[in-house]
Formats: sequence, structure tokens, C-alpha cells
Amino acid sequence: STRIVLASRPDGAPTADNFRLEAVNLPEPADGQVLVRVIYLSLDPYMRGRMSAAESYADPVEIDEVMVGGTVGQVVDSRHPDFATGDYVLGYAGWQSHAVVDGNQLRTLDRDAAPLSTAVGVLGMPGFTAYSGLLKIGQPKAGETVVVAAASGPVGSAVGQIAKLKGARAVGIAGGPEKCAYLLDELGFDAAVDHRSPNFAEELRAACPDGIDVYFENVGGAVAAAVLPLLNLYARVPVCGLIAQYNDTGVPEGPDRLPGFFTRVLVKSLTIRGFIQREFVSEMYADFQRDVSGWIREGRFAYREDIVDGLENAPAAFIGLLRGSNFGKLVVRVAEE
Ligand code: NDP
Repeated sequence: STRIVLASRPDGAPTADNFRLEAVNLPEPADGQVLVRVIYLSLDPYMRGRMSAAESYADPVEIDEVMVGGTVGQVVDSRHPDFATGDYVLGYAGWQSHAVVDGNQLRTLDRDAAPLSTAVGVLGMPGFTAYSGLLKIGQPKAGETVVVAAASGPVGSAVGQIAKLKGARAVGIAGGPEKCAYLLDELGFDAAVDHRSPNFAEELRAACPDGIDVYFENVGGAVAAAVLPLLNLYARVPVCGLIAQYNDTGVPEGPDRLPGFFTRVLVKSLTIRGFIQREFVSEMYADFQRDVSGWIREGRFAYREDIVDGLENAPAAFIGLLRGSNFGKLVVRVAEE
């Protein structure tokens, strides 16, 4: 089997030589374990954090260890009573073609209920991140304005569509005209703003004539700086991700903006609340699955996947994800279904 390990830690943006493709012999599954062949590998922004030794909410991947990642696979050999050869399973096998995993870390998937790849996308972790963070922390109300960046991706696209289903006005921020057109034409956003435009801050202000009530924070950086002055009294800011900052190696040059930031928090009575989606799993996962799969069936919820073929292409696809090269949920097809 083949696998991709972390060869070295990146300094700034990751490069191809931070990864190494290897061929290895597979171990036999022990009691309670299952041998899985990986079909889909999910590539997600959090993996940049795992490549660094810096403190985070989860441990880093060690050098020469397999890169972590959510996977959809098929059971090849089982020594766990709940799984049989041929079953499709959701798990965390990482960047490899096959893995021996503990059965209690797998969940069976029904291939007839939804396309397998959606288990790591719209009906999986990213979709749940949007659902839980928006509804629990953002709490959008009818008529309010909700703003989200990385809006064509799996988290942002779900945030905008759920905001609309709750009667709010959705404003999406994305990189480039093609993604902005997708937000308006396919996802039903009320406005779309290109963060690469030289007049981005003014265009965002024009797109939010009544200010912003919920800012679902996906990117940080220059986008957050443009949003901050537009936040209304009692605005809510679920802090989900800061992808614009993940490759930073230090504090950016320039004046200290922290005092100005806290002044806004005070005078606008803002609620700013970070979260990691797993906090809400036990409370909200079943509601999420029921609601989003229902909305998809009813034709009220769209999603888009960006599928890359071949495990060997995972590093380049991941490097691109941090720059916006993906268009939709980024998934590697490691093997045919
Ligand atoms: P996406 O598929 O949307 O990919 C990331 C996107 O970020 C890129 O396509 C790009 O889109 C955008 N981006 C990258 N750099 C910048 C930048 N400098 N300024 C503005 N936009 C940028 O990713 P996901 O939907 O999977 O994740 C979105 C966010 O949610 C990430 O920050 C991620 O870390 C976070 N997350 C948090 C979780 C949690 O539990 N807290 C769980 C899952 C995700 P574009 O071309 O439009 O700029």
C-alpha cells in the first residue's frame, strides 16, 4: 500500500518537499480491528495546523508519521463484529491507500442514502461546522445580515444557505468572479464580494447597507479588518477558522490594532466566540443530519465538490487549498468506489 508522511515542517506556505510518498507492507488486523481500503480522503484547512509543532487544540503530526485526515473507505478484512467485508465506512485513516483501524473509530455508511463523498463534506464535518457554529453561536434572525468568507467552500456555502433558510440576508465573500457568480446563481446568496478586488472594503460596505449582524469568521486577516467597522450593535461572531493566517510565521508589520478591536467589542456589545465543531457533536449532530439531508432532498440546498484523482496528488491539492485553488469541498479520490 502507499501512504504520504510528513517529511518536514513548513516555514510559511507548505511545499511539496514537506511531504513524502512511501510504499509500505500492510499489517494484519488484530482483534477488534478492521483493514480498510481508502476511497476518498478529505483535505481540510486544519491539516496546516497539524503540520506545525505550535500549540493548538490538537497534537501535531510527528515527522515521518502519516498525515491525518478523514476518509471514506471499504472494509477489506474485519476482526470486529460490527463490520463485514464490503461495508463502506467513515473514519480517520489519513493520507494512505489502506489502513488498519480500530472498529470503534469507524461508522458504517449507507451508500444508497447519499453519495459516499458527502460523508466528509456537506453531510459530514464541514457541513456540521457551519450548522452548529451558525445556529448555536451566530443565531441569525429573519431580516438580519449574515456575512461569511470562503463562501464557495463546504463551510461557507452551508453557512450562507442555512442563513437564507432562517430568513436572513446572506452576503458571501470569495476569491474571483467565478466563485462570486456561483454564490449568486447556484447558492442563492443575496450579494457576493470578491476579496481580491482593490476596492474590497468599499464593496463590502455597499453590499451590507444595514450593517452586519452575524459575521461567521472563516478567514481572519484583511477580510476580518474590513468586516469589523460594519458590525452592528449586539452582532455575533462565531470564530470558526483563520485560514488567511495559517501560513503566517510571525506577527504582521504595522500598527497595533488590538486596542481598536477591543473598542469595537465594547461600544458595539459584540459577542465573539471561538469553537471547534466537535464541542457540539453530541448535542446537534442528529439534528444536522436530519435537516441538511432533508433540505438537499427538497432541492433547497446545493453543494459542490472538487475531486482530485490519486493519492500522489494530495500534497499539491492541499497546498492549493490554502491559496483558494479549490472550488468546492476538496476531496482526493484515492481509489474507485
Ligand atoms: P474551503 O474549501 O472553503 O477552503 C478554504 C478557502 O479559504 C479557499 O478556497 C479560499 O477561498 C479561502 N481563502 C484562503 N486564503 C484566503 C485569504 N487570505 N483570504 C480570504 N479567503 C481565503 O475550506 P473549508 O470550508 O473546509 O473551511 C473554511 C474555514 O473553516 C477554514 O478556516 C477552516 O479552518 C475552518 N474550519 C473550522 C472548523 C472548526 O471546528 N472550528 C471545522 C472545519 C473548518 P477563496 O478562493 O474564496 O478565497
